[in-house]
Amino acid sequence: MTNIAFIGTGNMGGPMARNLLKAGHAVTAFDLSAAVLDPVIKAGAAKASSANEAVKNADVVVTMLPAGTHVRAVYLENGILGAAKKGALLIDSSTIDIDSARAVHAAAEKAGFDFLDAPVSGGTGGAEAGTLTFMCGGSDRAFSRAQPVLEKMGRKIVHAGGAGAGQAAKICNNMLLAISMIGTCEAFVLADKLGLDRQKLFDIASTSSGQCWSLTTYCPVPGPVPTAPSNRDYAGGFATALMLKDLKLAQAAAQNAGAATPLGAEAMQLYALFAAKGHGNVDFSGIIRMLRGEM
Ligand code: NAD
Repeated sequence: MTNIAFIGTGNMGGPMARNLLKAGHAVTAFDLSAAVLDPVIKAGAAKASSANEAVKNADVVVTMLPAGTHVRAVYLENGILGAAKKGALLIDSSTIDIDSARAVHAAAEKAGFDFLDAPVSGGTGGAEAGTLTFMCGGSDRAFSRAQPVLEKMGRKIVHAGGAGAGQAAKICNNMLLAISMIGTCEAFVLADKLGLDRQKLFDIASTSSGQCWSLTTYCPVPGPVPTAPSNRDYAGGFATALMLKDLKLAQAAAQNAGAATPLGAEAMQLYALFAAKGHGNVDFSGIIRMLRGEM
């Protein structure tokens, strides 16, 4: 049993904290919102009245917050780095900008802590089921210390590299996903116009060079992949607003690093337009409707 502080018990953090409790760990939790903190307390966590109070006896700290500004605020500026126990392991699983991740890494190292950026993929379903993928950035020592804890919340735990590498892996993957999804949608839009049966396109492309995850696991037209959100009117799944957030992070990182990512930029604009039309809560494969000219 490990004493774990969990800060940010929202859509993702709530079920992740509950999986740590289920695994027999002692969890002390804090969130600014009582509505999302209460279910975790009911599941057996101790309630803290601030992030700093939550971490004071913790051996491991996990944060799951909306964005870089929240992560900086919680760790820096009289935050966790001044309040945590000496030797505690600090893990941030939020998806944030690389600059913030690296700034917190540097400050944590200066204060003598092992710190890991460990964003996840797998969504709320993966958080509930404990099957998330963790992409980790930090030292070998931080990674090996974190592994036994992360394994209670995820199925695949990958050491991507040094400080910020977890965030880099996450935004590169999601930029590729957005581009491949738009490409898959365009292929089905064109097939419809050409009178090609959707199932036939699926059968051929899924075993040909057009094969990709957006097609074979997450097909944006209903029918070929029964578990895909397209079969339930694009409800649930991976919300457009979250995809847009990751694409913005990818573009900011590309600009800072001087990388040319023209398709990533175009994907961001298309998802921004789809979100601006009021579809931020719709699964990201629903963009096929906009490409078809339905909205
Ligand atoms: P959420 O908004 O449901 O949860 C974030 C929580 O952080 C909120 O409950 C909020 O009250 C809390 N919070 C904010 N500032 C705080 C502070 N100073 N102290 C304590 N609590 C604070 O968001 P989420 O969907 O759980 O996502 C969390 C992170 O995971 C985000 O970075 C998101 O991009 C990433 N992510 C989400 C998904 C998903 O499907 N929801 C998938 C992968 C990654």
